[in-house]
Amino acid sequence: MSKFDIKTMKCNICGREQEVTVLAMATQHGTADLDFRPPEVRRSAMPLWVHRCDYCRNVFSTSEPMPEYDEKYIDSQEYTTCGGIASLPETGKLFVKEALIYRHVKEYLKAGNCFLYAAWTCDDEKLDVIATVCRKKALDCYNEVDGSTIPKRQIPQMVLRIIDMQRRCGLFDDAIGTAEQFAFKNEQYEKMRRFQIEKANAQDKRCYRLEDIA
Ligand SMILES: [Zn+2]
Repeated sequence: MSKFDIKTMKCNICGREQEVTVLAMATQHGTADLDFRPPEVRRSAMPLWVHRCDYCRNVFSTSEPMPEYDEKYIDSQEYTTCGGIASLPETGKLFVKEALIYRHVKEYLKAGNCFLYAAWTCDDEKLDVIATVCRKKALDCYNEVDGSTIPKRQIPQMVLRIIDMQRRCGLFDDAIGTAEQFAFKNEQYEKMRRFQIEKANAQDKRCYRLEDIA
């Protein structure tokens, strides 16, 4: 079951109010992917996570406040061309633009997350090459994150997400290298880490879910 809400939001650049639809409540079916991509129904509601302003070129998150930035940025070539990434699906374009805004203001964790969301939209369209481009951009952003600013309890998920992204990009040695640097107390995380090493050793780039891990 899902419940949608319509809320009024103000564009953080042009200041105009507009209605956006958000997923207020959803029943969960199945398990997340190994990069913590949520299962249905949240999965299909991804286009509602980001909104293109009805009046200007800005895009904004429907769930989190956007950072302050120089409004000229949305006229830049980097922004208007989605950082030069061609053939993105429509929702993927919005996530890339959101990622570019966060990267522009050096909020690298959020930038990385949005590039990954863009990769998910490519996965759904079977656009594997573009998905890999987006994952690599996300990895570059995560690389810039100052680890000391991340709450300790979030680190295992962050590391597991990075390992999965490296493997899905075909960077198998990197995935194994990252996985071997860590050991987790949490049994489920430890199973995920070992599963990733096994799949990376087999040069397997496919998408797996938590339920695939015995
Ligand atoms: Zn606007």
